[in-house]
Amino acid sequence: MSSDDRPQRLEERVVARELDLLLITDLVNLRWATGFSGSNGAALIGPGVRTFVTDFRYLTQSAEQVPDFRREISTADLLAGVVGTLNSSPPTPLRIGFDDAHMSVKAHAHLRDLLRDDIELVGAGGLVEELRAVKDAGEVAKIRAAAQLADEALTRVLSRGLAGRTERDVALDLEIEQRRMGAEAVSFPPIVASGAHGALPHAVPRDVVIPEGTLVVIDWGAQLDGYCSDCTRTYATGPLDAHDREVYDIVLEAQLAALAALRPGPTGREIDAVARDIITAAGHGEQFGHGLGHGVGLEVHEAPRLSVTGEAVLVPGMIVTVEPGVYVPDRVGTRIEDLCVVTADGHEVLDGLPKELTTIGA
Ligand code: ZN
Ligand code: ZN
Repeated sequence: MSSDDRPQRLEERVVARELDLLLITDLVNLRWATGFSGSNGAALIGPGVRTFVTDFRYLTQSAEQVPDFRREISTADLLAGVVGTLNSSPPTPLRIGFDDAHMSVKAHAHLRDLLRDDIELVGAGGLVEELRAVKDAGEVAKIRAAAQLADEALTRVLSRGLAGRTERDVALDLEIEQRRMGAEAVSFPPIVASGAHGALPHAVPRDVVIPEGTLVVIDWGAQLDGYCSDCTRTYATGPLDAHDREVYDIVLEAQLAALAALRPGPTGREIDAVARDIITAAGHGEQFGHGLGHGVGLEVHEAPRLSVTGEAVLVPGMIVTVEPGVYVPDRVGTRIEDLCVVTADGHEVLDGLPKELTTIGA
């Protein structure tokens, strides 16, 4: 499916929700819907309506990226630019859906002031996100390329050792390596967390030397052409005690079992339960306090969720992470995360580094 179909598919959703128009102001939704990658813009989509507004800085860029929309350059007020012509439309009641999950209260009040009283504003949050959750072949290719770049970058960093370096040094090395290899950005600042610090799921790398004989959680991703990757591996820095080794083995068993269940049909909650049941049976249920996974695309966290509240049914084209973890306070942590695309008969893992416990010393 080409990205050219996206406004048409949105229009069908707009009609199905008994709306006349959809106002897109969230920049990520805007990029997905129109192809515009700048930092200021808005669009209006509906039957017969394709309006795009940005400012002077993006005059040339928007002409290239959004050729099929009627384009306007707004000098000051973007919202006024995009809805300005609606008040002069025939006086039939209009229902306009908007990104209520993203618009500020202030912007909403301003929008209300701009519009004729008989034009209704209807929260339509999630309308674009639901379509974004299912990737087309081009998007899968971009995310696969990002995951492969990230794998290669970590391989290069690991060749320089883990034990004896600071967490911050490893994280910085990984960030620079990804950028040097062509990533336009990192998906998020890399997490490098050793020993007890690994028990913090979103640990910030410290100026602390990574010791030998513990576990190090590394969570990282590259951004290519707007699309993110997200992966986690946990490494040993030398021989582990029985406790830490057991924690690693439980997480790996849970991760492999959840992967084996990943296919079209189940809900995110059902896949989450596969991993959660294994970790709970091993006595660590309380130490797996986050969801199993999340969608990945233009944003590193997007729909659908694989969690106890994930009711969305998995369908081919969804790209999700599978990332169980066990976090033992004041002691150690392990997380293992793969990035997967759901396919017609199962799934494909887009990253490829080994998951057997690997020792990376000095
Ligand atoms: Zn991650
Ligand atoms: Zn993740």
